[in-house]
Amino acid sequence: MASANPDKVAEIEAVLRGALGGAVTIVPRPASVPDVVEDGDTLEANARLKAVAIAAATGEAAIADDTGLEVDALGGEPGVYSARFAGEDATYADNVAKLLASLGAAGAVEPAQRTARFRTVALVRYPDGREVVATGVVDGVISAVPVGTGGFGYDPVFVPAEGDGRSFAELTADEKHAISHRGRAFRALAHQLSG
Ligand code: IMP
Repeated sequence: MASANPDKVAEIEAVLRGALGGAVTIVPRPASVPDVVEDGDTLEANARLKAVAIAAATGEAAIADDTGLEVDALGGEPGVYSARFAGEDATYADNVAKLLASLGAAGAVEPAQRTARFRTVALVRYPDGREVVATGVVDGVISAVPVGTGGFGYDPVFVPAEGDGRSFAELTADEKHAISHRGRAFRALAHQLSG
């Protein structure tokens, strides 16, 4: 896996195990393989950049994903720039603060004006160049203030449309992954891999 983050790898391994109904082992990016610069214009391009690099370095099938938050009132931003919305070294809190300020500046106050979605592209790349690509989306609304302490990133301000009004940061990990962009993308990927 292109990610070296053990939590992310464990989460994706669990989703794939559940979806494939069997033993799946994902190996995090080894420390000897440098992180890839994500300078693609799209989520799919970034996922591909990461997977191609790991497949080339390891000679093994490589799995990568890229996620963006698309906010309608901001013309789809931050999108592919979600990790660095407030700058290259932005923290999650910086990005959330910029998101809330941007929506305020755009006059988007009512929930109906604050619609958004998380989108994940998950991709497997084989050393011979073959690829399997899947997408997962979850719709929601950006809340007025952050709520909840779970999750990461924009979770405290993202209220999924198909939930009960709690933000992603108020859900358990299982509740989140049942409906999340990443859960959906990797279940769709597993479906294609097993089909
Ligand atoms: P990545 O492609 O998974 O690294 O995600 C890019 C950025 O999107 C992260 O830095 C987060 O700010 C945001 N993000 C990705 N997934 C989630 C999520 O599940 N909840 C909240 N924010 C997320």
